[in-house]
Amino acid sequence: MAFANQNNLKSDVLIIGGGMAGCSLAVALAGVGFSVVIVDHIDQSAQTTDEFDGRASAIAGAPKKMLDRIGMWQHLGQNFAPILDIRVTDGNSRLFLHYDHEEIGDDALGFMVENRHFRQAVFARLRNLKNVTYLAPADLKSLARDQSGVHASLIDDQGNALQVEAQLIVGADGRRSQIREQAGIELTHWSYHQTGIVLTVEHEIPHHNVAHEHFLPAGPFAILPLPNGGKNNRSSIVWTEKDELVEDLLALPEDDFAREFNSRFGDFLGEARFVGPRWSYPLTLQYAETSIADRLVLIGDASHGMHPIAGQGLNMGLRDVAALAEVLTDARRLGLDIGSAPILADYEKWRRFDNTLMLAMTDGLNRLFSNDIAPIRLARDIGLAAVNKAGPLKKVFMQHAMGSSGNLPRLLKGEAL
Ligand SMILES: Cc1cc2nc3c(=O)[nH]c(=O)nc-3n(C[C@H](O)[C@H](O)[C@H](O)COP(=O)(O)OP(=O)(O)OC[C@H]3O[C@@H](n4cnc5c(N)ncnc54)[C@H](O)[C@@H]3O)c2cc1C
Repeated sequence: MAFANQNNLKSDVLIIGGGMAGCSLAVALAGVGFSVVIVDHIDQSAQTTDEFDGRASAIAGAPKKMLDRIGMWQHLGQNFAPILDIRVTDGNSRLFLHYDHEEIGDDALGFMVENRHFRQAVFARLRNLKNVTYLAPADLKSLARDQSGVHASLIDDQGNALQVEAQLIVGADGRRSQIREQAGIELTHWSYHQTGIVLTVEHEIPHHNVAHEHFLPAGPFAILPLPNGGKNNRSSIVWTEKDELVEDLLALPEDDFAREFNSRFGDFLGEARFVGPRWSYPLTLQYAETSIADRLVLIGDASHGMHPIAGQGLNMGLRDVAALAEVLTDARRLGLDIGSAPILADYEKWRRFDNTLMLAMTDGLNRLFSNDIAPIRLARDIGLAAVNKAGPLKKVFMQHAMGSSGNLPRLLKGEAL
């Protein structure tokens, strides 16, 4: 029961959606003294079970610095694996792109974290912060926004009601954002007619912290290193397939499924064994026409959802968190209203270009690589080989993927807010 012993609440910020982006924002804001109410329609224990989310996320260097700075990363313990190399190959072509972290310094290119571990860590950090109230399972029943603030009416799973007054409401409620819809913000979206099959495997030969992206005609097949008590023999797989094949593939008996899997996985990691269930995620692109309205901000997938080809969706959400937390903190230091239009416009201006660029890049990459048209294949293979040889260009790509390019908010540089 979400509202047991709870009186009506007043807070600086009300966040709808307690996923990875929403909780990270709550932690960042509460850490500098904002009072935060965060609402999710699924309770925390359900969100951290093995059955809830089979994915692992590649977290880029800059967002990792933020998670460190806000005190969340420490709660992961050993539950992360650095990515030291990335190898990109195209079908059976021998031309490939190889990113080695030593080409740009000592830092890892990114870090693999299972989503359930991310959630456990961020929830643990939230529990240490006094000025956060996490309400779940609960839903937003009604919402009014005016000059005086945000007036929300919530309802829990027992039908109990609760009023929350805040200066600002944040929609962190994912791709089907109710907050975005209620605000009448239009959405551009299309389907890739592809599904991401997600699996975890254990394999004979250690992965040595190398991530592999293998471009196949139906879409990318990624093998991503996971931690496993130093054994380095567990990987997360994102296997992109055409929508129409996925239902039949997932329904195959174990041996037949393993045969299909092995024909894509290859044998360079030895024999592989499936650990846990087969997951599937339909792949779409969507983009809100704006991420602000009166006293309202959208972050994460509520604002932009992209193809996982470059492992950037959550990273973009965490970049939203860093920018919004900085804009709000600076506004409060100057004694300004954190929900006022000029403050929110600063956030929108900061994030729009970066998010649009990443949406365009992931969309373009997927279109370029998810086909088997001979001249295109030849051109992209020559392109891959050329980038591999062109040191400066390669460095630019690597810095972009690590999230360390552009006008970075303080948290993404590992600095205090
Ligand atoms: C196959 C695959 C692999 C991926 N790999 C990567 C990767 O390697 N790296 C990366 O950066 N990104 C990756 N992504 C993208 C990443 O998973 C998403 O961008 C990220 O999960 C979005 O987080 P979020 O918190 O914005 O939204 P969500 O995870 O969707 O969270 C939204 C939260 O809001 C709650 N909610 C929804 N509606 C309501 C409501 N009405 N009221 C209350 N609560 C509500 C939900 O319960 C949920 O907790 C991948 C995606 C896919 C599909």
